[in-house]
Amino acid sequence: MTTRLGDILLDDACKSCGGKGRTTNPEWLEWDNQRRQAKASFSGWLVEHPFPDSAEQLTCTECKGLGMMLTEDGQALLAFFERYEGRVP
Ligand SMILES: [Zn+2]
Repeated sequence: MTTRLGDILLDDACKSCGGKGRTTNPEWLEWDNQRRQAKASFSGWLVEHPFPDSAEQLTCTECKGLGMMLTEDGQALLAFFERYEGRVP
């Protein structure tokens, strides 16, 4: 869900993960790609090609798992708050 301040868009879904905050491990993508190309039955193929040992899902490195990215306006607003944090004149 995006955040707006009036008409100004402050954040938007991360383009890298589509807003999920995680991505599929490339090892799993490759394993799944090989599985799709295999002519054997899935259970037969699985005996010789076990699931990868690594985690299937990884935290998105672009958004650090938030699923959202600040827009330029959002970054400017955050910088504004950081400038005055704890010492409002
Ligand atoms: Zn992301």
